[in-house]
Amino acid sequence: MINRRTLLKNLSALPLLGGFIGGNHLLGKSGVTGNVVADKMYRDYFKELGVRTFINAAGTYTAMSGCLMREETVQAINYASNQYVNIDDLQDRVGERIAELLDCEAATVTAGCFSAITLGLAGVMSGLDPKKAAKIPDDIADLKNEVILQKSHHIGYAHALRNCGVKLVEVETAAELENAINDKTAMLWFLNYGNPDGHVKYDEFVAIGKKHGVPTMIDCAADVPPKENLFKYTKMGFDLVCFSGGKGLRGPQSAGLLLGKKDLIAAARLSAAPRGDTVGRGMKVNKEETLGMLAALENFLTRDHEADWKLWKGQIEHIHDTVASVDGVMAEIHVPEIANHVPSLKVSWDQNKIKMDGNAVREKLRMGHPSIQTVGNNESLGITTWMMNPGEERIVASRIKEILSTDVE
Ligand SMILES: *Cc1c(COP(=O)(O)O)cnc(C)c1O
Repeated sequence: MINRRTLLKNLSALPLLGGFIGGNHLLGKSGVTGNVVADKMYRDYFKELGVRTFINAAGTYTAMSGCLMREETVQAINYASNQYVNIDDLQDRVGERIAELLDCEAATVTAGCFSAITLGLAGVMSGLDPKKAAKIPDDIADLKNEVILQKSHHIGYAHALRNCGVKLVEVETAAELENAINDKTAMLWFLNYGNPDGHVKYDEFVAIGKKHGVPTMIDCAADVPPKENLFKYTKMGFDLVCFSGGKGLRGPQSAGLLLGKKDLIAAARLSAAPRGDTVGRGMKVNKEETLGMLAALENFLTRDHEADWKLWKGQIEHIHDTVASVDGVMAEIHVPEIANHVPSLKVSWDQNKIKMDGNAVREKLRMGHPSIQTVGNNESLGITTWMMNPGEERIVASRIKEILSTDVE
């Protein structure tokens, strides 16, 4: 263990060393866009701490720190960090601006999509009564305290609903859904990427909610691109729509969007910080994330999405062509229909010929220089390029080729 005195001594010596170039030193300045770190000299904290950085060939994973924010977002965060404001005033104005940009009734910045789900439900349960909000999650017998969802939509993130203490009621068909609605039903919850697997599709789901006067919420966390999705589900009639800020929008990783009906957004905010006696007090969003989220959204809305797509597709094709040239390797480009709707690559190989399983290859990629993170299973590697910096696809392609080219019988 390094003692405090040595640590302080090292710290005081650091400016004399002139700092290090953080981020993608391998690429140099010219190969990097949208990553401010790479253009500036910074003290190299990650190196000091012994935490390895890596090329993200996986995608927007929370455990991998999500995404890299764009320059405009970082500038907004820096700007916000220098002045005090009243948090509710800022949320009011930013919410209005976002609602205007996304052509919906109202909006608020949350601490991620998960938090948007919890706060949105809390608002449905409390209405505009702060005393009811204070009862969540453990004193809710007198409130509406059941949420209905389709069985195939019931994923781990539904824990965001359980945070409010509610009972989750699973149904499969539209008839079951209607039957399950009673005077304790607070809300109907829909998982956007679960749509193909569920019996009840969007229109019918929304119509059932309206018929019974029960609010509907949809989780669209990872569902931009396409840009249209930011508008689509509020227009479709969902009362509340939740997005991650730190996935395709490339905003702060600890930010998200809750969009929807004016009274429901106002009610959701009764359970959010700065109010203390609430379920959402721990999901604090300060001025930096609030403004960063707005800046990221503005950047996203005005981007050339065709150019982005062309870049990601070209990168994926480069990796595809490079690795597919190895004897025994299969590579397949695909685009998921909903959620992470971007050019993606699945790489597999004849494991009789190349005697390594998927996890072993992933580990070699992770342990190499530079370290590269991918996803997948024992059979294959999963790769996306949208969270990479331009140029990194060449390193990824040649490393995978190199690894799969060894150990061949
Ligand atoms: C990522 C994700 C979440 C959580 O989003 P955060 O912004 O990380 O809070 C919720 N639901 C789904 C379907 C997701 O993919």
